[in-house]
Amino acid sequence: MVRPNSEDRALRARAEAVIPGGMYGHQSTRLLPDDYPQFFSRAKGARLWDADGNELLDFMCAYGPNLLGYGDAAIDGAYIRQLAVGDTMTGPTGLMVDLAEALTAMVTHADWAMFCKNGADATLMALVAARAHTRRKTVILARGAYHGAAPWCALRPVGVTPEDKANQIYCDYNDVASLEAAAAMAGDDLAAIFAAPLKHDAFVDQALPDPAYARRARSLCDQIGALLVVDDVRAGLRIARDCSWSTVGVAPDLSTWGKCIANGHAISALLGSDKARAAAAAMFATGSYWYQAAPMAAALETLRRVRETDYLEHIETLGAQLRAGLGERARAHGLDLRQTGPVTMPLFLFEDDRDLRKGFCFGSEMLKRGVYVHPWHNMFLNAAMAAADIDQALDAADEAFKALGSRLTTLEPVEKMRFLAA
Ligand SMILES: *Cc1c(COP(=O)(O)O)cnc(C)c1O
Repeated sequence: MVRPNSEDRALRARAEAVIPGGMYGHQSTRLLPDDYPQFFSRAKGARLWDADGNELLDFMCAYGPNLLGYGDAAIDGAYIRQLAVGDTMTGPTGLMVDLAEALTAMVTHADWAMFCKNGADATLMALVAARAHTRRKTVILARGAYHGAAPWCALRPVGVTPEDKANQIYCDYNDVASLEAAAAMAGDDLAAIFAAPLKHDAFVDQALPDPAYARRARSLCDQIGALLVVDDVRAGLRIARDCSWSTVGVAPDLSTWGKCIANGHAISALLGSDKARAAAAAMFATGSYWYQAAPMAAALETLRRVRETDYLEHIETLGAQLRAGLGERARAHGLDLRQTGPVTMPLFLFEDDRDLRKGFCFGSEMLKRGVYVHPWHNMFLNAAMAAADIDQALDAADEAFKALGSRLTTLEPVEKMRFLAA
């Protein structure tokens, strides 16, 4: 936990001078309880250590990249071996073809793959590919869905112009009528429906995709000649060994991947069906580091494990154990905890807690007991976790719920989260 005179506090003070805002982006602790550490020193398996050396059982998994455990020996070994042989070069290695073959073999809708670095690279390429294919402009997005930090999809307006977000129509996730209304508004200019695999927006309950909504998105695209995009950057490989909408029987034309596909190494991908192949080949897409061989070696080893091990069933079992155990313990302490989303990507929100005073108290109490949970963003399980880790989390939660229960009537509003209650 961050204490005065800690290394974390010292780093924060120095960062104030040389990093805007002291830290930016989703890994900033600005919107987390004050005692959450901003800086970390190492990670292994399911655990990480903050800059002061406190060991934490980590339910954030680097916000998604950690699927099979931090510092996995086989994956990092493949990365390091390739790094020594050749990484950033004048062109790619044959690993690029191997990886495209592995992904298209695994993801049912995909006939081809293109590689980039961040999820936002892949979602932007999907947008460009859809417009190139259809020669139309308009895209439908679900309100509040995250597709990256580029201006076209940024969730904060600072520095973004209306023109950056031109030709976009918003609908409500899982609401067929609002999707149809958006499609009607787009008319014959619809280039794409951009779909989140599930509603995994911050601050609100998650929602699994309604099969009727997914099917309607597919049929509207087919009717109008637009492309259906599923943004699997976050949920990919945590719900299925295929595109996440395979779970509701709907195949997109394009899907975007990132975060965990190389278990933490920097690579993302746009996958597509034959329909969009010509447009993808014609558009201008490249980056200085997009052809690095070492992350491709890491991705190949990650995908081998995805194919050949029960990692998914393992994290589903652990996730179910966590969900049942937390529900039981919360109830025993008289607390109403909403747990939403897939069990492998849990989100906890307390009932009647708009400014998150209960969530922040619970998070801090968990942190004190060596468990890192997030008060308003979905979390992730990883396959390096074991049943004993879930037991540790449940034991911590039992005490954390007890502490929260005893302080319920005296909790102060969380000043920095007041915007949520407004
Ligand atoms: C994280 C995320 C992105 C952006 O990925 P980056 O690697 O951060 O650029 C896009 N879409 C979804 C659904 C994400 O969760």
